[in-house]
Amino acid sequence: MTTTITPVIAGNWKMNGSRASLSELQELAALLTTGDAPRAMVIICPPATMLHAVASQGSTSGILAGGQDCHAQAAGAHTGDLSAGMLADAGAQYVIVGHSERRADHGETDPAIRAKAEAAMGAGLKPIICIGETESQRDSGHAEAVVAGQLAASVPDAAGQHDVIIAYEPVWAIGTGRTPTNDEIARMHDRIRALLVERFGDKGATTPILYGGSIKPQNAREILAIENVNGGLVGGASLLAKDFYTIISAV
Ligand code: PEP
Repeated sequence: MTTTITPVIAGNWKMNGSRASLSELQELAALLTTGDAPRAMVIICPPATMLHAVASQGSTSGILAGGQDCHAQAAGAHTGDLSAGMLADAGAQYVIVGHSERRADHGETDPAIRAKAEAAMGAGLKPIICIGETESQRDSGHAEAVVAGQLAASVPDAAGQHDVIIAYEPVWAIGTGRTPTNDEIARMHDRIRALLVERFGDKGATTPILYGGSIKPQNAREILAIENVNGGLVGGASLLAKDFYTIISAV
């Protein structure tokens, strides 16, 4: 892990959780405040219904809150959507954009994701921009080209001046219990780092690159130790406080 970048561990609760799940947040907060001080910045991205509660209850233990998506517009006739400003108003400091489940379920394209990331930055949020290849793209030898294309098209030029986080999440590793080999993760993260430096210079050298896809307490330590892996985006294992804390402690 690159030492000049503060590691980030972000939990994506997806469409899981209710007010009862706040007990997990309280348990995590207790673990974080009584255990060794975490080396990582800890973010939880709950469903929007719980964002305000997570932001206010997490703040005492240093847990930051993030949204799972935002609209590219600031306001208007977009039933069911939330703007980045609304997420910020609810206490979010981050927002995930371009998660593969949104790319697949809602047909989100790279330009749409770029517009969302721009809206997030405009509202004072830090976007966590997700990129990653499908299994068939990897099997056909196109993984690096796909990821490079997504990086070029979904990361705004303004990322040269604003803080953004990149999350490399191979689609086939999300929620499957399968992960790339450490070498494959290292190769992809090195490539992403090189592309960020080429485009954004020093800012690209310090942009956190998270790995996401079936990070578990059992594999966190070795994945998070890989060069240019600056933390993790964690789905399933972020739902249970003890598992998530183990992953945070693995940094
Ligand atoms: C994710 O959805 O971003 C993710 C990484 O999920 P999981 O950890 O469950 O694979």
